[in-house]
Amino acid sequence: MRTSLLFLGTGAPDAGSDDMPAVALKTGSTLLLLDSGEGVQHKLVGSGLGLSRVAAVLVTHLHGDHVLGLVPLVQTRSLLFRPAPPLSVVGPPGLRRYLFESFSSLHFDPGDSLEVHEVRGSEELRLRGAAVSTVPLDHTVETLGYAIGLGGDTNVCYLTDTRPLNPEGFGFRCHVLVHDSTFSWTDFERAVEFRHSTALEAASFASSVGSRLLFLFHISSRYRDRSVLEREARRLHPHSYAAEKYMRLSLVL
Ligand SMILES: [Zn+2]
Repeated sequence: MRTSLLFLGTGAPDAGSDDMPAVALKTGSTLLLLDSGEGVQHKLVGSGLGLSRVAAVLVTHLHGDHVLGLVPLVQTRSLLFRPAPPLSVVGPPGLRRYLFESFSSLHFDPGDSLEVHEVRGSEELRLRGAAVSTVPLDHTVETLGYAIGLGGDTNVCYLTDTRPLNPEGFGFRCHVLVHDSTFSWTDFERAVEFRHSTALEAASFASSVGSRLLFLFHISSRYRDRSVLEREARRLHPHSYAAEKYMRLSLVL
């Protein structure tokens, strides 16, 4: 199966940044969006993917940096396309309320094109042909990770924001792992306090679950030079890369 990944935003919250979390994942003919950081619709249009082909948005949690691009995305699709193509939105409890209270305040009716699935914990979903599993993460609020099937038992795994999970019992083979790496190991106490991971912890988890490629993600703006985190991660996982906005990856499996 042909799979491609386009990072639309890779950073942690920072004033004025347009690098908020969002990843476009195309698997077969299905385009999924992982998180929906502020400004994501401009990036989808600018990168040529457009808005109409997004079949589903997989939201990890209701922190603003991961979700503030979602209401504008839904609204613009409704303005541009009549009827708007169907869109599934998956996320933790509270997502429906956030969306529909926002729509109501904006005097906007998304119509029948929008389906919201609230998920608690582990579930297996089928979204427009894509096999999607959810994994509960360990963050300050209820948060979901996602494993998207690539055929066979390999997956693209998207685990952010979170402390590292226990690899035993994780249960997924990740060909590609996109993992929270907000901090360096030198800021380990901060990672623990704010329920994020260090690059070293991400690499340790990637090695433990046999991931081929690790992308360090949700990187704090305190690391102007992201190669510091890359070097840190490569001590435990040689195929570690700090994600950058507009980085693309193509896989043929
Ligand atoms: Zn968060």
